[in-house]
Amino acid sequence: MSTEDLRIVWIYPDLLSTYGDRGNMLILAARAQARGIPVETIEVRSDQRLPEGADLYLIGGGEDGPQALAAQRLNADGGLHRAVAQGSVVFAVCAGYQLLGTSFFAKGAQFPGLNLLDLHSDRGPSRAVGELHGVIDPRLGLPPLSGFENHGGRTHLGPGVSPLAQVTTGIGNDGTSEGAWRGNLLGTYSHGPALSRNPALADLLLRWATGAGYLPPLDDSWAERLRQERQLAVQP
Ligand code: GLN
Repeated sequence: MSTEDLRIVWIYPDLLSTYGDRGNMLILAARAQARGIPVETIEVRSDQRLPEGADLYLIGGGEDGPQALAAQRLNADGGLHRAVAQGSVVFAVCAGYQLLGTSFFAKGAQFPGLNLLDLHSDRGPSRAVGELHGVIDPRLGLPPLSGFENHGGRTHLGPGVSPLAQVTTGIGNDGTSEGAWRGNLLGTYSHGPALSRNPALADLLLRWATGAGYLPPLDDSWAERLRQERQLAVQP
C-alpha cells in the first residue's frame, strides 16, 4: 500500500449536506487512520474548483434546488469527470446519486445529470421515507445494506450499471432494486449517514481507493448493535 496520504474530497458541503453527510467523510477518515493510512480530507464548496487528483470523492444528499445547482456546477467544472476517467472512487448518496445519472427531476423540471452512470431518475407517486434494507450484489462481498431513505425521485437503471442491492424493506430505486455501481462508482439512497450503519461498505470504498486487498478488522460492535436494532424494527 502507498504511504502517500489518502485524499478524500467532499463535494459541495454548502449544497449537498442535508442528512449528516459529513459523517461519511469522518467515518472513512477514521477507519483509514485506524489502519495506519494517513488521510487528507478536503471540503470543496460549490464556488471552488474541484481538485482532480484525489482518491475518493463524496457527494451527499440534498433538496431539489441545491441538487440542480450542484449538477450545473459539476458539469461546468468537469473535474469530477476527469477524476473518474483517472480511476478515482466516487461514493454518492441520494441527490448525489441521482445527479450521477443522465437526468433527474427537481422542482418539477428535468435536469441533465453528469452522465457518469447509466441511469436516470424521475418522480415517484409518493415520497419514499423510512428504513431501507437490502441484499447487496454478492460480487461486492458485503453484508445486507442497512439504511434510511428520504426522497421523492425514482431511479431507473440502464444496462451499463448493476443494482447495489435488492430491496427487502423500503423503496430504493423503484421498490425492487436499490442504488447502483459500476467500476469505482457507487451510489445509494441510504443516508443518515450511510456508512455509520454499513462499516463494511466504508471498508470496500477504502480498499478501492487505496488498492489494498485486505484491511485489518476493526471493532464494529457498535455498528452491529445498531444494525440488529434496525433489523428488528422492520421485522413484521
Ligand atoms: N431531491 C431528491 C429527491 O427528493 C433527493 C433527495 C435527497 O437527497 N434526500 O428525490
